[in-house]
Amino acid sequence: NHDLDVISAARNWRVETSPPATPAQVVGELFASDVLTLEELKTRLSKSAYKSLRGTVERGETLDPAIADTVALAMKTWAMEKGATHYTHWFQPLTGATAEKHDSFVSPNGDGGAIAAFSGKELIQAEPDASSFPSGGLRATFEARGYTAWDPSSPAFIMRHANGATLCIPTAFASWTGEALDLKTPLLRSVEALNQAVTPALHLFGASLGTRVGSTLGAEQEYFLIAEEFFFRRPDLVMTGRTLFGAQPPRGQELEDHYFGAIPDRVLSFMTDAEQQLYALGIPVKTRHNEVAPGQFEIAPIFEQSNVAADHQQLIMQVLRNTARKYGLVALLHEKPFAGVNGSGKHCNWSMSTDAGENLLEPGDTPHENLQFLFFCAAVIKAVDEHQDLLRISVASASNDHRLGANEAPPAIISIFLGSELTEIFDRLESGEGGRGAEAGLLGLGSPVLPPLPRHAGDRNRTSPFAFTGNKFEFRAVGSSQSISFPITVLNLIVADAVQSLTNELQAQLNRGAGLDAAVGEIVKATYSKHKRIVFNGDGYSEEWHREAEHERGLLNLRTSLDAIPLLTAPHNVELFSKFGVLSERELSARQEIMYDIYFKTVNIEGETTEYVAQTMILPAAAEYLGDLSAVKTPSRALDATATEVAALTDELYDALQTLREQNRETGGEEIHDKAHHVRDHVLPAMSQVRQAADRLEKVVADKHWPLPTYRQLLFVK
Ligand code: ADP
Ligand code: MG
Repeated sequence: NHDLDVISAARNWRVETSPPATPAQVVGELFASDVLTLEELKTRLSKSAYKSLRGTVERGETLDPAIADTVALAMKTWAMEKGATHYTHWFQPLTGATAEKHDSFVSPNGDGGAIAAFSGKELIQAEPDASSFPSGGLRATFEARGYTAWDPSSPAFIMRHANGATLCIPTAFASWTGEALDLKTPLLRSVEALNQAVTPALHLFGASLGTRVGSTLGAEQEYFLIAEEFFFRRPDLVMTGRTLFGAQPPRGQELEDHYFGAIPDRVLSFMTDAEQQLYALGIPVKTRHNEVAPGQFEIAPIFEQSNVAADHQQLIMQVLRNTARKYGLVALLHEKPFAGVNGSGKHCNWSMSTDAGENLLEPGDTPHENLQFLFFCAAVIKAVDEHQDLLRISVASASNDHRLGANEAPPAIISIFLGSELTEIFDRLESGEGGRGAEAGLLGLGSPVLPPLPRHAGDRNRTSPFAFTGNKFEFRAVGSSQSISFPITVLNLIVADAVQSLTNELQAQLNRGAGLDAAVGEIVKATYSKHKRIVFNGDGYSEEWHREAEHERGLLNLRTSLDAIPLLTAPHNVELFSKFGVLSERELSARQEIMYDIYFKTVNIEGETTEYVAQTMILPAAAEYLGDLSAVKTPSRALDATATEVAALTDELYDALQTLREQNRETGGEEIHDKAHHVRDHVLPAMSQVRQAADRLEKVVADKHWPLPTYRQLLFVK
């Protein structure tokens, strides 16, 4: 019985009363106060050491080992001033989470005292005893060691907890044979691949030598908040992050009064607290609001260089989770915590930018700028069309399968929304039609004359997995709980590939004596003609689209993760990843193995949790209620009918449970691939049968016997 929980969940939340920083304080003192910025290092290093470090950070030059000790000392001094007692190499293993192993700054000095030690060697490289992180067979257990290596391009920071603080040094994680065991290494490699591919194109457009290009990324994080009291009463939420049971609440989200409505006080307090911590970590949090579903919210920072953005995104998830608990809340980052209610995504806004800050997907004011914009835009269209499979794989997980293709999330079919204005421009270019009337004329691209390009995204489309939004693309299929590193790695890689191929073509035409305008016009036109099947501005949820995409346009529809994962090691993908040195065939196979493994484990745990909750909580509740009903001696048609219904549903639950139990014991085979297919094809359907019976029981069994907090309580008690 949850009456007491309900009251406590609604009333007994704790408020942190420390006054929030004013905007002036945020800008003046708080922002990045716990980050070891280059600016801070400049005050602590000799001129030459600083110059050398800056070359490493800004231009990717190899770090001079001679300065490592100096930098380590500066770091340690700074961190200890900030109250840090420990340091850790902070890395992103293939689980998608982050990992840390803390070492104390304090070492015994042999005279019974202790000194604070931290050398350049310890800064540059460490060997966490990390043999239990997944390696997909890249490490046999006898050589289980992996090592972490400092990534100077992402700044070190202080992570605080109630009783202290730790210096966190962002690192890459690799095996001794040099194979990447983490998500950061391929991301860094893909940024370099993009740089290598895009700068030659920029030179053709007249950019100065020495220009560097990177990708920029702003990720919008959706999440749910529920009261802690309820969370801990739900073994399914505790064990799997999502509800495996739960009848639909009487009032669903159809009212949508929550969307962009006033944020409840308690939630606002939580958000403010989380934001202050994120500011201190140098994370430029910009927006916060209610999302579509009841209890659902969103937080979004301003975009940054993608490697730093990926580190920051991990910190955002961590700070949200930790801070919620201070307010008696739990933050659910799962893609689909509640059946029948909107899921959560992590929209990744992506673009390319030069080191001078020029956004390559920003339509410009001059014909020249627009030429360049259309060239890069065409490259993205080509990239997405040619590599639909990789984009789908990059967001594949058991949890995201509940969201992709369900009717509120982007479909599993990858397509691009360009918006009507931009589509019209490409269409006119293709057909050779000029601009019309008054709006004609700005952009001369050889023969066709085009109107000015749209400076702001006019129309919006929430149903597209990949949308142009004015000066960037938004990849919406990314799941709320996943690391953004692999999706960005894939984006960088496929666009690098497309830009490289279009640039070769452009160079060839220029060599033949074509003018730049005419050549770019031809290339953009041909590229659009060839790849426009990927452009779709309509309703991505509709059934007609699914038919059209598959049967008329021949687009891939990789419905579940297990349909997508095999393609990761398809020859064309192995070739692409090796060509740009982002991942070797062995590294790709290892990742594929781990994806299967995580998929299997996720569903396996869900299957066993469903069995456990049904057997030990729901069946007993039904039995207790039946007992209540049969204890009534007065004849009653109402009670008889209810007892009959409860008994029938209980039998149904029991039968479904038997099937689930059998499927949970089966393995489907020895190989991880077979196990994964077994849980998808047999365990998930069996779980669903159990759930159906249980959810119907929830609607007839007396509330006081129901063992799980209901959707009504989870979603509407604030
Ligand atoms: P909207 O989604 O309504 O367009 P914003 O314009 O605020 O909202 O952008 C949403 C996210 O896109 C933010 O995180 C923002 O920083 C990011 N963003 C904006 N410009 C770029 C860019 N050039 N590259 C990457 N992300 C960007
Ligand atoms: Mg958006």
